[in-house]
Amino acid sequence: MRFVRVAVPVPALDGLTYSLPDDFPVPPPGSRVLVPVGSRVLTGCVLGANGVDASGVETAARVKPIVEILDREPFLPEDVVRLATWVADYYACGIGEALTTAMPPLAAGKRGARAPEFRTVRVARLTAQGIDVASRTAMEPGGELRLGPRQREALTLLLAAPDGLDTAAMASRGIGAQALSRLAGLGLVTFMRRRLERDPFAIGSVDSRREIFELTTEQNAALTSLRALSDTGEFQAALLHGVTGSGKTEIYLRLAAAIREKGRGVLLMVPEIALTPGVAHAFRSAFGERVAIQHSGLSDGERHDQWHRIRRGDVDVVVGTRSAVFAPLATLGLVVVDEEHDSSYKQEESPRYHGRDVAVMRARQAGALVVLGSATPSMESYQNALNGRYSLVRLDRRVLDRPLADVRIVDMREEYAAAGPDVVLSAALRDALGDRLGRGEQAIVLLNRRGFASSVFCRQCGATLDCPNCSVSLTVHRAANRARCHYCNYSTAVPKACANCVGPYIELVGFGTERIEADVKAQFPDARVARVDRDTIRKRGAIAALLTRFARRELDVLVGTQMIAKGHDFPRVTLVGVISADVGLGLADFRAGERTFQLLTQVAGRAGRGEIRGEAIVQTLFPHHYSIQFACRQDYAGFFQQEVKFRQAMQYPPAVALVNAVVKGRTQQAAMRDASEVVQALRSNPMPAFRVLGPAPAPLSRLKGEHRAQFFLKGTHRAAMRLALIGALAARPEIKRRTIVDVDPVSVL
Ligand code: ADP
Ligand code: ZN
Repeated sequence: MRFVRVAVPVPALDGLTYSLPDDFPVPPPGSRVLVPVGSRVLTGCVLGANGVDASGVETAARVKPIVEILDREPFLPEDVVRLATWVADYYACGIGEALTTAMPPLAAGKRGARAPEFRTVRVARLTAQGIDVASRTAMEPGGELRLGPRQREALTLLLAAPDGLDTAAMASRGIGAQALSRLAGLGLVTFMRRRLERDPFAIGSVDSRREIFELTTEQNAALTSLRALSDTGEFQAALLHGVTGSGKTEIYLRLAAAIREKGRGVLLMVPEIALTPGVAHAFRSAFGERVAIQHSGLSDGERHDQWHRIRRGDVDVVVGTRSAVFAPLATLGLVVVDEEHDSSYKQEESPRYHGRDVAVMRARQAGALVVLGSATPSMESYQNALNGRYSLVRLDRRVLDRPLADVRIVDMREEYAAAGPDVVLSAALRDALGDRLGRGEQAIVLLNRRGFASSVFCRQCGATLDCPNCSVSLTVHRAANRARCHYCNYSTAVPKACANCVGPYIELVGFGTERIEADVKAQFPDARVARVDRDTIRKRGAIAALLTRFARRELDVLVGTQMIAKGHDFPRVTLVGVISADVGLGLADFRAGERTFQLLTQVAGRAGRGEIRGEAIVQTLFPHHYSIQFACRQDYAGFFQQEVKFRQAMQYPPAVALVNAVVKGRTQQAAMRDASEVVQALRSNPMPAFRVLGPAPAPLSRLKGEHRAQFFLKGTHRAAMRLALIGALAARPEIKRRTIVDVDPVSVL
């Protein structure tokens, strides 16, 4: 009997073994098959043909057969299957989760898209009767209704998509109008029209009058080194460390053009396209129709279509966020990870992969060049550059020798002493704003709000208004006069008196972007002020619209959170104010200093990108902290030297590898007890390669009503740590089910 290993879309499962009915051909790795899993039939992906050795006769008897082979050719290219297998192994997650991430939306029958906006598409959806029949068809293929394979596949897909599926997308999968209308005739399917979001980067909206620059000497030298690396034809990794405004995008473009000429594909990764539209636009203008842009604003149908364009080879340049690392580009020659330090490359749900690190592995497997670009490289990448694992390519100057912004620190302790605790804008920032606005220039005012927002606090007893589910304080939204939890979305009206002591002395502490916006407006009534934060950009496209208005100078001041600190290029911005620069430093997170440094350097890099010299004003309670000091001097190397000492002394990455495990439980004791059990098991078998820390209640000890305990593995041998943890958990399946494993965690909250 022949066997195949199949990855199924079920969390935390390894590949499963199925037998192949005699009349079935051997499906190649990467092809999709229908397989029974428990009482369901699911779409799985073939990993390989050699699942079980011949001695497993007893096992063989229990092995179930494959129901159907959906593809004759591999659906996923083999190298993407290999990459996903590596992800599952490295990040200790199920192979099915990793492969589902690599699949385009509809392929695995994943749930439909969010509420769409502009364009409409025709959508097919199961009727109640259809759901019934589809469920039964899934259980017993070829049941009482005589359906063709396409119709059955349609039912399977639609069953997994309660919101229905785009008919055009189904058609490109070979499920044509005929199959669907037959199902409609049987009363199993209905059609409706659904509105779709428009791709903000669609061809029509692109400004194709791209300027062609003469590269600066420094840019030329950098490009030459990178091309030399690429010309080796082997895997190479380079860190492109270029100060803000040094013209990295231009280098990516020319390098990409060179690689394309050699007939190889290019993958450009960006942290969040809506927030950093510049690079995507530049690529679209340079490569036109040969570019596919993948971002979260696309509907499932559109993403699916893009994926197939790439798979067919109609596209040789892909620009996308994290998950684009799995794009089915053939003969990959270059991977660029722009803003490689950005924490949005890390996926905070399973599979908890880091897009940058997977990109490096993809390049390695493809024998390609990977370029990691940043003005503020991550500690990990810079360490790799210093120890020679990556080539270091530097751009130390801004193009056209534009000076970096002047950075001024304002000590807020003095400000509070002079003007009281309610001050939002320091005198220095207020004056500078007045100055710049008077000259018709633009400004950005940024609030560093990680783990921080306006919360409710009683001046009499000190009680705060916390989420009943999550052990974090609720955030006040003034417009609605409600306090809301940002983890579980619980909300309540802002109380008039303290629930604890009944005193009427409720006070709002801290402030959010709303308060800053109000303050700026009050001080500068004539200025056109807008706010960018999670609330104002909830509507799709809202952020792009705001940024466009700002770029067109229909707005004078943009107030916002970290998200506006990213790679925008607004030449008329000459002033950036940072409110509470230090907030991150108070958190129980070893990366706090690095984050603060990155944020301040990046934000200062937003000022003075045009002809007029820019300035940044940084308000802080810790003016002497090294992160703030080095950021103000834009001294990356100085910061790195200082920070790496701290990481070494405290044994944090990149000095060691870290694995985090969070065990959930119904009570805190239960969570702690289970976590202890795993920790004991790990310690009972002492390994020189790592240490185990904890367990302790997680900093976010309650989340969505569950209690959480956590522990860490710290060591130099990641594989040993992972294996030991997987082993300890495998012996306790009941605990394993409630445990989140995070390899190389980025956020330890
Ligand atoms: P970075 O990503 O390094 O911060 P960008 O790539 O955004 O910098 O470049 C900053 C600005 O300089 C952009 O407006 C870009 O068009 C411009 N630029 C890049 N290279 C040159 C050049 N050689 N000559 C003139 N302008 C350039
Ligand atoms: Zn909550």
